[in-house]
Amino acid sequence: MIKIVENSKLLRIIYPIARLTGGITNLRGGAFGETIHLWGRIKDMPERTLWHEACHVCQYKRHGKLKFLYHHVVDWAKARISGKSAFESYRSIRWESEAYLHEDPYSIVKIYPEYTAMIKDLEGQTWEVYNGTTSY
Ligand SMILES: [Zn+2]
Repeated sequence: MIKIVENSKLLRIIYPIARLTGGITNLRGGAFGETIHLWGRIKDMPERTLWHEACHVCQYKRHGKLKFLYHHVVDWAKARISGKSAFESYRSIRWESEAYLHEDPYSIVKIYPEYTAMIKDLEGQTWEVYNGTTSY
């Protein structure tokens, strides 16, 4: 089950690094293992941010921690060495390219069918939050 952390302190620590290495000026979320960290409250986030991070959780689970981290570093470094900007390098990381293409639950379960139950569970949680019946 995916855990959601709102108003993440971890993101506030990571933000300067993301800004420097990824040229990211509005960090809204991050996935670490099976936990999604959000900058603010879930109800104030664009839904696509949550699904982008959920896609990262699927990548992490299918490919494993080492491969997930390896390509974050190596894909980014290759792009930087080839002369791309920090932001272009961040977007060229294979996990980011894929997540930006799959920022909705239907699209995610098409490429990660083995995690359909996990995505449906998250979809149920977010539906409740967006409709104001649950607060985190
Ligand atoms: Zn991402």
